[in-house]
Amino acid sequence: MSLHALTLHDLHGKLEKREVSSVEITESVFQRISSTEEKLHCYITLCRDAAVQEAKRADERLKRGEASAPLLGIPVALKDIFLTRGLRTTCASKILGSFIPPYDATTVRKLKEAGAVVTGKTNMDEFAMGSSTENSAFAATRNPWNPERVPGGSSGGSAAAVAADQCIAALGTDTGGSIRQPASCCGIVGMKPTYGRVSRYGVIAFASSLDQVGPMTKDVTDCALMLEAIAGHDPSDSTSVDAPAPAYAGFLNGDIKGLRVGIPKEYFIKGIQPEVEQGVKDAIRVIERNGAGVEEISLPHTEYAVAVYYIIATAEASSNLARYDGMKYGYRAPARDLTETYMKSREEGFGAEVKRRIMLGTYALSAGYYDAYYLKAQKVRALIKRDFAEAFRKCDAIVTPTAPTTAFKIGEKTQDPLQMYLSDIFTISVNLAGLPGLSLPCGFDGDGLPIGMQIIGKHFDEATILKLAFAYEQATEWHKKKPILDHG
Ligand code: GLN
Repeated sequence: MSLHALTLHDLHGKLEKREVSSVEITESVFQRISSTEEKLHCYITLCRDAAVQEAKRADERLKRGEASAPLLGIPVALKDIFLTRGLRTTCASKILGSFIPPYDATTVRKLKEAGAVVTGKTNMDEFAMGSSTENSAFAATRNPWNPERVPGGSSGGSAAAVAADQCIAALGTDTGGSIRQPASCCGIVGMKPTYGRVSRYGVIAFASSLDQVGPMTKDVTDCALMLEAIAGHDPSDSTSVDAPAPAYAGFLNGDIKGLRVGIPKEYFIKGIQPEVEQGVKDAIRVIERNGAGVEEISLPHTEYAVAVYYIIATAEASSNLARYDGMKYGYRAPARDLTETYMKSREEGFGAEVKRRIMLGTYALSAGYYDAYYLKAQKVRALIKRDFAEAFRKCDAIVTPTAPTTAFKIGEKTQDPLQMYLSDIFTISVNLAGLPGLSLPCGFDGDGLPIGMQIIGKHFDEATILKLAFAYEQATEWHKKKPILDHG
């Protein structure tokens, strides 16, 4: 198999044994990018020269026989929402179209210190608002399994890049499902850690009470290794929690005997694609056969989650996005005075979905509507959180489909925002409750598109999720399947 097709942990083993060099791996990845990117549009910005330099530095560290971290010399892609010092960061928006950050996000700094090689910045929905990566000011990313389909979103560029071997692993962000839903659509592993587990310093804010950073990888072991590299307390992010992050890979022993798994009845609803339902139900049987106990649970407030999310997320976004005013940084439209500068810069700089969210959020927070919408949404959010707390008295992890359907067609939902919003019906509650959740492949539909299964855990218990995911992965072959691309 070509080097770009291998996992992070396979390549780490080869680097340690000096069978390959980081430069060779990096060249292989860029080769793959050259032969497939025209078709897929995974990246907004590539940094080949800098990557080769970083790879050379990694090779020197390896040559010196430095006890190597798992990420040393591994090519990693970053969603274009992470600030990268000296490297353009756009958030897929015209308003940041030529923005060059003066510093690295904490997670980026950690990856670089661990010796990872940054390949570039991946495409996404503008300001992470969307579920298909079609809301990018640059291009629509295509799904490697079928270029007529979306890769999911908003971290669709990262998901497609991992699936197409255009990088070895990637980082995404997840506010309502943006790591897990594209992971599901592209047949890879994606994890949203517990709110507070990973620093968001230097990550462009969308909805601050929901945003979280996480890994997108080729398998569960890689996910554990990436999480280990980015987790932990950061004094620069006041929401980051001062709790030790365990060595996650150590939990991957395949032993899930006695683990109690809850299946929420509200997640197997009418409207879900029958093959998705079947795929997840079959996966649950595999989990059961491997020794876990499975029982039905109830999360009764699930039906309100999408509505609550679209009040809270838009309210927070309207406030976070007020900083893009054409004055401090970013795009500035030619104008006669200050007010016109604000108005024209925002008018021309933001895309349609971002404007829709700013208007919805401003409305929900305005005098007279605050109590009816925002405050009410916060109360229901508390109930959703309580549902999970109740459920976790009976079980250690919860299993659901990640998304109601497999990857839909490009253009299929762009004219109907509500349909688009429903793509995240199974992932949104997890953000509202601040819990960790992971998506991993559990089958394919009749059109050959991947199906994703979601595993949700207790606060700060990513270890149990990874353990369960690994046991399932060991028992199946889905993660070994790769999309067939015409070239390379
Ligand atoms: N698709 C959801 C939205 O459009 C979630 C996005 C995300 O998690 N960033 O808001």
